[in-house]
Amino acid sequence: MLLRHTSTEVADRKGLTINPAKTCQPIGAMYASLGIHGCLPHSHGSQGCCSYHRSTLTRHYKEPVMAGTSSFTEGSSVFGGQANLLSALETMFHVYDPDIIAVHSTCLSETIGDDLAQISKKAFDDGKIPEGKRVVYASTPSYVGSHVTGFSNMCKAIANQFCVASEEKTNQVNILPGWVEPADMREIKRIMREMRVPMVMFPDTSGVLDTPMTGTHEMYPKGGTTIEELESTGSSFQTFALGKFGSEDAARELQKVAGVPFELLDLPIGIKATDRFLMKVSELTGHPVPDSLTDERGRVVDLIADMQQYFSGKKVALFGDPDQLLPLTEFLLDMDMKPVHIVSGTPGKYFSKKMGKILDEEIPTANYKNGPRADMFLMHQWIKNEPVDLIIGNTYGKYIARDENIPHLRMGFPILDRVGHQYFPTVGYTGAIRIAESILNMLMDKQDRESPEERFELVM
Ligand code: SF4
Repeated sequence: MLLRHTSTEVADRKGLTINPAKTCQPIGAMYASLGIHGCLPHSHGSQGCCSYHRSTLTRHYKEPVMAGTSSFTEGSSVFGGQANLLSALETMFHVYDPDIIAVHSTCLSETIGDDLAQISKKAFDDGKIPEGKRVVYASTPSYVGSHVTGFSNMCKAIANQFCVASEEKTNQVNILPGWVEPADMREIKRIMREMRVPMVMFPDTSGVLDTPMTGTHEMYPKGGTTIEELESTGSSFQTFALGKFGSEDAARELQKVAGVPFELLDLPIGIKATDRFLMKVSELTGHPVPDSLTDERGRVVDLIADMQQYFSGKKVALFGDPDQLLPLTEFLLDMDMKPVHIVSGTPGKYFSKKMGKILDEEIPTANYKNGPRADMFLMHQWIKNEPVDLIIGNTYGKYIARDENIPHLRMGFPILDRVGHQYFPTVGYTGAIRIAESILNMLMDKQDRESPEERFELVM
């Protein structure tokens, strides 16, 4: 009974969050920075913040995540961290030789009011940035938003500070993949190759946070979007922004800076969202959807049809990031499952509006909420009032899953106690098969474990 104090009575809370369904902004900024080739993230704040961000990313990806810190002390907390950041930039370029340093702020430096744009300019003016090297900076105060907001803020900064406007457009498109796993970014690139659409993706953490073991440590792995590719985003004729919360701001920035129009789509999770993505890419590029992808779609439909009796009517509670939850809910409904409790710690009215459109007709009694009070405690209360067959979400759901004896599918960020999320995509039709198969195995394992002897089946 790890969460034995969770009560069933749901009270309206105004100012208390219990076990938030989110983490802090700079983690998202750090993750976005790692998707740029040769980039060293830098946390402008205390050492504790940086250690937390690095360790969470390291534990999720099982890869060493490098980052610098301005190492605030009592003095910098009072007088500001300019001197620390100037000396950090000089030292990091000198010792670690990155192509880019991506600086994000923290709660402390934001509260002091440090101006990252002004400090970065001073670093250039003082000759602390070597020739050809770059500094990108984003404001990421963690007392608002979530890790998704931080990811979005850094993507917007990258778009603003690297994109080079061009009157002449090429046949290339920009893909903003949103906060997805390296395997998902690899899968989206594969899909675009199948469709023969030239593209540049940023950020791109494939080849950075899922690197092969070679016996040699590479400070800057070969993956990540290069500076040249980032600059070329201004010449692309179209941007596809996947996920409103993670990608829209960066897409708007590309439109503002370089006049590149954008199409905002859901993350291609599940059949319908992948259909919409492929059809829109096909419509705007003129490239048809190849038979190979149509066949992949057919295989997901076949799997769901074959095993429909195990999916049908099963109740699901899910929590995590809004860009994932929206198409995932739609996919669960497509499999005839019942997503009845949904929380996301990331604020934004769009979530409830869109979730309402997806759910209200199908399951009018479903609970969904986002923002600071949409926490794990509330989710547990809802589950106690209306039990579910499955929980989908990050590692923090394991306490509820254990207490209530409910199978728990790890999806989202962070996953600290399982592997596989780095390597197997959940986007596209291939990803839909992975999600359906994982759900199915969990439900069947439970049935095998708990069914009475006379109902224990060899063939399922
Ligand atoms: S919430 Fe603020 S103080 Fe805490 S780790 Fe994140 S940035 Fe640092």
